[in-house]
Amino acid sequence: MSITQDQVVSIHYTLKDDAGEIIDASEQGSPLTYLHGHGNLIPGLERELTGKNAGDRLQVQIAPRDGYGEYDSALVQRVPRRALQGVPEVKVGMRLQMRGGGGPRAVTVTQVLGDMVTLDGNHPLAGKNLNFEVEVAAVREATAEELSHGHVHGPDGHHH
Ligand code: ZN
Repeated sequence: MSITQDQVVSIHYTLKDDAGEIIDASEQGSPLTYLHGHGNLIPGLERELTGKNAGDRLQVQIAPRDGYGEYDSALVQRVPRRALQGVPEVKVGMRLQMRGGGGPRAVTVTQVLGDMVTLDGNHPLAGKNLNFEVEVAAVREATAEELSHGHVHGPDGHHH
C-alpha cells in the first residue's frame, strides 16, 4: 500500500541541520504515526512521502518555505524587562507565551542586555534547511473516527 491522502503512516526519522547536528528524531523502536494529508507534518515532508511504501527509505532536504517558513526579522522585538512581569528570571533560550492582538504567540528570548530583552517570534527552525532521513515503517487505512478528527488514535482507540 503506498502513501496517499487519508492514510495512517508510521515513520522512523532523523532530522539534522546543515551542520549535521541532530535536531529531532523519532524514539528508538517507536515510530511517529500520523494521518497523511492533514497538515500534521510539514508540507515538504508530506509531499516527499506521498507514493512511498512501507520499507522505503528516503533522504530529503526540505527548504524553509516548505518547512517552518523563512526567517522574518519583523518578528524580533526588544522590550524592557518590566514588560515581562510574572517571569521571575529572564534567560536566553527561554520560551514565553506573549499575549497580543492576534492571540497568544510563542517567542524565544534571544538576548538579555541590561534592562532590555530581545524576543524572537520566529519558529526555532524558521529559515533552516531540514535534512530528513526517513524510513516508512507502516501504512494503513484510517478509521472513520480518525478521519473526522483529523489525527491518529492509538491502538486502543484513545487519544495519545
Ligand atoms: Zn481524536
